[in-house]
Amino acid sequence: MDENRLRKGLKNVTKFFAIISALIFVFGIFASISLDKIFKQTIYKQLDNQIQEYKNNIENRIDSEFQILHTLASFLEFSENITVEELSNGLYKSNSQTNFLRMIYFDEKENGIKVIMGQNVEKSIKLSDIDKNAQDVVRLAYNNEKAISDVYYDETFKKDVITYAVPVKIKNKKDGMRVLTATESVERIVEIMNSGGVLREQGIMVLVNDYGKVLAGSENATTNNIKYINDLGNMSQEAKSKIMSCVESSRKDLITFNMSGYEWYAKIEPLRYRNWSLIVMDSVTGINDPIYNNILMSRITSIVPLILAIICIIYGYKQVRKNNFELLKLAYYDSLTGAYNMEKFNRLLENICKEKKEGVVIALNVRQFKFINEIFGVEQANRLLHHIKSVINENISTGEFFCRDSADAFYIFMMSNDKDTVYERVSNIVNEIGDMVLNQNQKYPIMLYSGAVFTLEYVNNRNAITEIMTRVMFALNRARTIAKNNSMVFYDLELHATERLHNYIESHMEQALKNGEFKLYLQPQFDLKTGKLHGAEALVRWITDEGKMIFPDQFIPLFEENGFCTRLDLYMVEKACMQLREWINMGHDPITISVNQSKLLFYEESYVHQLCSITRKYGIDEKYITLEILEGLALNNTSQLNMRINELKQIGFKISMDDFGSGYSSLNTLGNLDIDELKLDRAFLLAASKENGYRQRLIMGQIILLSKKMNIQTVTEGIETKENEQMIKNLGCDYGQGYYYSPPISANEFTEKYIKSGEKSK
Ligand code: C2E
Ligand code: CA
Ligand code: CA
Repeated sequence: MDENRLRKGLKNVTKFFAIISALIFVFGIFASISLDKIFKQTIYKQLDNQIQEYKNNIENRIDSEFQILHTLASFLEFSENITVEELSNGLYKSNSQTNFLRMIYFDEKENGIKVIMGQNVEKSIKLSDIDKNAQDVVRLAYNNEKAISDVYYDETFKKDVITYAVPVKIKNKKDGMRVLTATESVERIVEIMNSGGVLREQGIMVLVNDYGKVLAGSENATTNNIKYINDLGNMSQEAKSKIMSCVESSRKDLITFNMSGYEWYAKIEPLRYRNWSLIVMDSVTGINDPIYNNILMSRITSIVPLILAIICIIYGYKQVRKNNFELLKLAYYDSLTGAYNMEKFNRLLENICKEKKEGVVIALNVRQFKFINEIFGVEQANRLLHHIKSVINENISTGEFFCRDSADAFYIFMMSNDKDTVYERVSNIVNEIGDMVLNQNQKYPIMLYSGAVFTLEYVNNRNAITEIMTRVMFALNRARTIAKNNSMVFYDLELHATERLHNYIESHMEQALKNGEFKLYLQPQFDLKTGKLHGAEALVRWITDEGKMIFPDQFIPLFEENGFCTRLDLYMVEKACMQLREWINMGHDPITISVNQSKLLFYEESYVHQLCSITRKYGIDEKYITLEILEGLALNNTSQLNMRINELKQIGFKISMDDFGSGYSSLNTLGNLDIDELKLDRAFLLAASKENGYRQRLIMGQIILLSKKMNIQTVTEGIETKENEQMIKNLGCDYGQGYYYSPPISANEFTEKYIKSGEKSK
């Protein structure tokens, strides 16, 4: 999976969700605002209706008062000849049936009859005696206008009052106009204002005249002592001016403003009389207010789904992200340790190469990890892997990274670019890992080995990653073969040459075998007692078609790994037999030829059969062929091996145990295996020839002695000096082989030197 593509996808998903969320949000806000608007419009419409009703009620009230006065006036119009007494009584009666506090009837000479509820009738009132406000309306009535006064304070009743006046035209009388006037408490209007409950806690309703003076007000207006528009509250001056201008010009309007943190409205409604206006002022968003609750509900009902939608989207988005990250994790992380996996490592390394950054790739393996797994259990082995992960993690810095591939394979990229630093850093990691205790009772030493490749050389190559990784593996494999604790191998020129050779070997071996590029070289072995030629060891040399010689050390281990060794070994047996046949045909006495045999051969079912068919093909007596097997071979299955050995021996082959003393030599091998010959490794000789090698000499001597007793002949390899020869002679060894006599030489040279000459001595 492509990480970048995944990240891009995620980005697009993020964008998509963000846009959808933003759209829903904007839409929600828009919806909320419009809903709000609609609600407010509804509210104002409702308010408008209600206020209209108040206005109508007040107007109707005034109308009805006028109506009463008109009725009385028309009654008076027909009572020209009525006496003052009758008139007084009539007025008194009608006053008692109305709400009027006082009524005065003025004749054409401005003389009046005053009637007050519950008082005597005064029959001679002068117009000039009454309140100025009342005088004004009376005068208007004399001019044939019905009129109403502003509110004024009446000394008699100690109340705010209004006075009405209507003209009274006496029928059949040309001159003069009479006036009927009535005064009533303003409370009648206040009552109307306080009824109905359109106002909330702080709501105010006032009746004002055209210069903003309050004529009557609702309860709140009275308690707050509101006398002028200016006293209405601490709203902005702008709002007040707006109200004032409406009042002055008798204009109807709705004004909204903010006051004390709430939204308020003021509704101005002009009345039909005297340029009066009714002002209703209240908060739109009062607490515990049904209207406000309506708005709130509208907000909630529009915002809750919006929030829910956004939550759903965020949840969905997170889910998508999580899933994608899980995919990412699967794709790029090692599930056991949580470290990166190989895939991710390669990608990061790719970037390093693209950016042409210097650094080093290190491959790290645990020695005997399989063994740890089997002996200490999977749990402990996993614990070790976790430990390795955290140690590496702590020892790398930003810009560096690492991964676990499979099992115990870790790869690290470090930015260091000189061998010493890398060596030191890796050593620190390896030592820290080694500190872990797998089992309290037995401290098993955790050992690691590592290979390293500097990346700079490869960053420009097309297959940089593959090259780096194969090389680091190569260095790692080399490190594994070094039996040193915590070995580390840098991939260098020498290793590079080896690698190339390996590649060459593996790709050319088949062809080389067909072409006969594998040559028989022989190294003589001499009888130490007689000094006569005893036999020869067959050693392979690969001479390429270009004439280059490759030594067995370079390809035998490889062939043992890839299985080609079995074919080569049988080929060498055949070459030996061919050589023996040639000598016999030439009339010479044959000598024994020892041929190295890979352990793989001993497990092949048809091995014995194949050997026999070769000896038969060339008519060679099997006693001239010694089969050299490695001691290590015996470690696995002695009885099976013994069966095979006996089988071969019965046919006539001789069996030799090679490299005794080089590795895990054991006397048991000697005791258990029915061999004819023991080849003491050069390492044995080297140790014994040292000045302080007394013990080694003793052991070597004892082994030779022991072999003799068991009827096993001894050959010492690697005789390089006369002293070497002397020493093994003294120890009683039978035969010697080494550069002192001759290096391995071509079969032809050997024939010339040792066979044809007939010397057969060193
Ligand atoms: P080896 O069987 O132990 O063979 C002896 C090696 O020691 C030979 O190396 C030989 O050249 C070397 N040698 C002989 N005398 C001296 C000496 O005085 N001093 C020193 N330092 N070295 C000496 P060579 O020919 O390179 O073979 C190396 C190994 O390759 C052999 O070790 C053997 O294990 C393996 N080998 C060679 N040919 C074959 C083959 O045809 N089949 C198999 N399976 N292995 C082979
Ligand atoms: Ca050998
Ligand atoms: Ca050997």
